[in-house]
Amino acid sequence: MNIDLENHKLEKRLCREVGRAIVDYNMIEEGDRVMVCLSGGKDSYGMLDILQKLQARAPIRFELIVVNLDQKQPGFPADVLPAYLTKLGVKFHIENQDTYSIVKRVIPEGKTMCSLCSRLRRGILYRVAGELGATKIALGHHRDDILQTLLLNMFFGARLKGMPPKLVSDDGQHVVIRPMAYVAEKDLARWAELREFPIIPCTLCGSQDNLQRKQVGQMLQDWEKRFPGRIENMFSALQNIVPSHLMDRNLFPFETLRATGVASEDGDKAFDEEPVPSPAATADAAGNGSRGNASGPAAVIPIAAAH
Ligand code: SF4
Repeated sequence: MNIDLENHKLEKRLCREVGRAIVDYNMIEEGDRVMVCLSGGKDSYGMLDILQKLQARAPIRFELIVVNLDQKQPGFPADVLPAYLTKLGVKFHIENQDTYSIVKRVIPEGKTMCSLCSRLRRGILYRVAGELGATKIALGHHRDDILQTLLLNMFFGARLKGMPPKLVSDDGQHVVIRPMAYVAEKDLARWAELREFPIIPCTLCGSQDNLQRKQVGQMLQDWEKRFPGRIENMFSALQNIVPSHLMDRNLFPFETLRATGVASEDGDKAFDEEPVPSPAATADAAGNGSRGNASGPAAVIPIAAAH
């Protein structure tokens, strides 16, 4: 395919997916002041870029204020983001806080620093959001981050919990949004190359790479290669939850359940093996642009019942 056409399609896809996520979860409203957290990585650059495009054509008015937290990691190129943002002509604030020294002092050598570092960063960003009068805090997490979080929580936290597109912050004071929630990481990587964002490496702190997250990310990519559409189906599943077929007693009233006398497709199929949609049907469901019910198509193949 012609490279310009391909790039044009990528831009349209990014704008469409971000716009759809914003509408689906009512992320941005008239008069909002959105604090865009820019780390200098590809995802947050992409978020800012697409939000600016959408802002120019949106039927509502909202403001963007970019915030970067300079944590004083050795080698952090402090001039890169101000120069980039000044050229863009966007409002911005650089918050200088030496969390690096604190983390280095408190965490013993060789131990991972991320937990304390991110707790400090979170507190600072909440404070800055308050000072700037921001009504929303936008983070650059994308579809692959959300799925990785889901699997990590299952594997290591024993919880069915992902990363929400919109939620009130843990201090109860702010609304956090993730406008890139529907966007595939590979699209953001390609967009960053194309737009030549001045990427700042994320390894400056010298902390260990997040090995588990990397491994889960790799596992998802391997699956996707072998079974195209699997990532999309897993992502759709997060929006098609059937509490009656899970086991959380807080989500479904198992204790008080009585026969209704009314037949229902969603009822228990007793001894029948649980049918799963055929690969062709799931590919159709995932590829038709809707994030609707992936179990809708009629074609099913049985899977062996677990004993
Ligand atoms: S990788 Fe470094 S900068 Fe990022 S959270 Fe961990 S310690 Fe902080």
